Amino acid sequence: MTTIQNIAILGATGSIGASTLDVIVRHPSRFRVTALTAHRQVDELADLCRRHRPDYACVADAAHAPRLRERLAGAGVSCRVLAGEAGLVEVASLPEVDCVMAAIVGAAGLRATLAAARAGKKLLLANKEALVVAGPVFMETVRASGAVLLPIDSEHNAIFQCLPPFASGELVSKGIRRILLTGSGGPFRSRARADLHRVTPDEACAHPNWVMGRKISVDSATMMNKGLEIIEARWLFGANPEQIQVVVHPQSVVHSMVEYADGSVIAQLGHPDMRTPIAQALAYPERIEAGVSSLDLFRIGLLSFEQPDFERFPALALAYAALRSGGAAPATLNAANEVAVAAFLEGRLPFLQITAVIEEALNGLPANALGTLEDVLAADARARARANQIITRFNSHAA
Ligand code: NAD
Ligand code: MG
Repeated sequence: MTTIQNIAILGATGSIGASTLDVIVRHPSRFRVTALTAHRQVDELADLCRRHRPDYACVADAAHAPRLRERLAGAGVSCRVLAGEAGLVEVASLPEVDCVMAAIVGAAGLRATLAAARAGKKLLLANKEALVVAGPVFMETVRASGAVLLPIDSEHNAIFQCLPPFASGELVSKGIRRILLTGSGGPFRSRARADLHRVTPDEACAHPNWVMGRKISVDSATMMNKGLEIIEARWLFGANPEQIQVVVHPQSVVHSMVEYADGSVIAQLGHPDMRTPIAQALAYPERIEAGVSSLDLFRIGLLSFEQPDFERFPALALAYAALRSGGAAPATLNAANEVAVAAFLEGRLPFLQITAVIEEALNGLPANALGTLEDVLAADARARARANQIITRFNSHAA
């Protein structure tokens, strides 16, 4: 008999939040929604509360809490309203919560995701930025608390499925030669760099295979998403940079592969639908229905693989460089990327300058060691300030 799992979803109003709820409602005897959070999308959050009846709802932007209370009362929903970062941390550490889906976008999710790790939860990690900025602190917290960390990012979930029962630590000692991290190449895979000067946010967000939030969609267009995923794989699986190879695979059917010392390569395949990795992690080690249809290999016909182009997509080299520098460098890479992507989405920065901002921030800031969460937050803040200065300067030159 399976006992019911109480789930908290951080970032419930987003794309991963929606896919998670879609899987959960298919299995009412397995899962119960205990808490839902959003940034400030009060109407969407209230609507989710009406449908899923959690015990707690939290808005990260505390100014919106009164409006959330009003909406919930109007809809006849009784649940406790929490607010601010303290509210997110409380949700992530509630004693009655068994499993936390960390699906906030960006380093904004770090404190709450880390709180879930500290509380020893079963932690479903979609919020890759949290691991990128705080790798060693994060993994040490997981180790110390005994939290069960399950990757949701489709590639890392695939790697997890291709590895021997959770192989963290030294991969070489486990007979593993390489991790082959696949990526579609994004919407601009076959465009010349010269054609990318004027691309709009909507063009950058039109991903060929996946429907996702806007930030990760832009990351896919610059290939910084793959860069962040290289760093994510380093921490999740204890792989060194030389063991992680990016493989461009335009069909997004092979979600990643693991190559063993004996030459075996094990791959995980599936539709590009996040409900598959979410269901795999929710039910782990069992398997459940996710609403995803069978893979029709006859219709797909061909799977192709290409070398990534480091010239057209400098984000990849920047991520490898940040990983090799270590210390604060991955936090700097991530923060500068978040600031630059936000500026691009707001029409304040041309697409090709996103990686230029990151490169300059990385070159100008030290890769000092980060021993505590406070160190990580300080490095993040410092890089955000620097990235904003760089963007202001770029714009004053352009004017
Ligand atoms: P999204 O933009 O659709 O949703 C983000 C969620 O986080 C929303 O609920 C939003 O309210 C909340 N949020 C945003 N800013 C916040 C803040 N400052 N404080 C608190 N909450 C905040 O994003 P998404 O596409 O669902 O991605 C979520 C995470 O999952 C990201 O880290 C992304 O890289 C990762 N991921 C997403 C996909 C995908 O298919 N969407 C795939 C792999 C990994
Ligand atoms: Mg991914």
